[in-house]
Amino acid sequence: MEIDNLIKKLSETHSLSLSEYEYLIENRTEEAAKILREKAVKIRREIYGNTVFVRGLIEISNICKNDCLYCGIRKSNAHCDRYRLTPEEILECAREGYSLGFRTFVLQGGEDAYFTDEVLCDIIRSIKQNHKGCAVTLSMGERSYESYKRLFDAGADRYLLRHETADKEHYEKLHPKEMSFDNRMECLKNLREIGYQVGCGFMVGSPYQTNKSLAKDLKFIEEFKPDMCGIGPFVPHKETPFAKEEQGTVELTCYLLSIIRLIYPQVLLPSTTALGTIHPMGREMGIEAGANVVMPNLSPVSVRKKYELYNGKICTGEESAQCKDCLNQRMRSIGYEIVVDRGDIKIG
Ligand code: SAH
Repeated sequence: MEIDNLIKKLSETHSLSLSEYEYLIENRTEEAAKILREKAVKIRREIYGNTVFVRGLIEISNICKNDCLYCGIRKSNAHCDRYRLTPEEILECAREGYSLGFRTFVLQGGEDAYFTDEVLCDIIRSIKQNHKGCAVTLSMGERSYESYKRLFDAGADRYLLRHETADKEHYEKLHPKEMSFDNRMECLKNLREIGYQVGCGFMVGSPYQTNKSLAKDLKFIEEFKPDMCGIGPFVPHKETPFAKEEQGTVELTCYLLSIIRLIYPQVLLPSTTALGTIHPMGREMGIEAGANVVMPNLSPVSVRKKYELYNGKICTGEESAQCKDCLNQRMRSIGYEIVVDRGDIKIG
């Protein structure tokens, strides 16, 4: 009974207290998940209809100075076969993506010192010039305010920087001591202040995560109101300290996707590759739980296996066109349509 009331309160007020979020997670049932899913899909339909936005993901480098304990491309992984795309290769990926109907390009990579502001600004300017009306999203980790500002001034529209966990103690268990929770949060605030559309997000089922830390993630999302929110299951990578940890579940990831949709109905919510990795129908299930974005891979096939954040990552064998067609078909099979659109957040 209590959980029904919480769901009602959430869908009417888009807000719960920290302990209420925790209760909603702790006491979840299949029945509660179904109600949340239905409400999430209904409200998403009112705003976005049956359309799903696509972002072409270009994995520009797996060289990284950081040592996040969960990540397969962490600097201590000596078995990682490192690569970096040249600016020409990146522009070529965007060209191919444009011809396939992509109007947003996401440049993601490790924190690779090669990608100075100068190098990135040139790439951003070229993409924006070559493909008028397209959006450029960056996902290149933590940088200074000045750097974010330069990239924004060069034309970058959006920035994805998952907060990873809104619980400082938990953050410290997932990262080496050189990395700081406060700095990551500061970066998100700076990005927002500069004028980017900002994405945060977290892994579901990461080691040491508790229902309380998840409740903090939800409260943070409620308060920060990110334009985008990337959540996907944690999946272990064998060359990391978390090799033996358990992976996150489809069930909890989908449950949280529905809750996030109800917290912030307009939010752009991807159904992630990680979700598709742990279940053959994972991405469809994510959309049916309230997500509205998919991110097919546009990276050159030769590097896809090397950008291995976690083991078993899907979509590493096919050409971009096949990746796009595959997702098109998957979305159609559940009654959704991928659209050729920048896919901006619909506010108001
Ligand atoms: N260097 C950039 C991009 C990181 S990779 C940055 O710092 O933002 C993008 C996301 O992949 C990360 O934010 C993390 O949430 C996710 N990720 C990394 N390792 C993972 C794993 N083992 N399982 C699931 N997701 C993982």
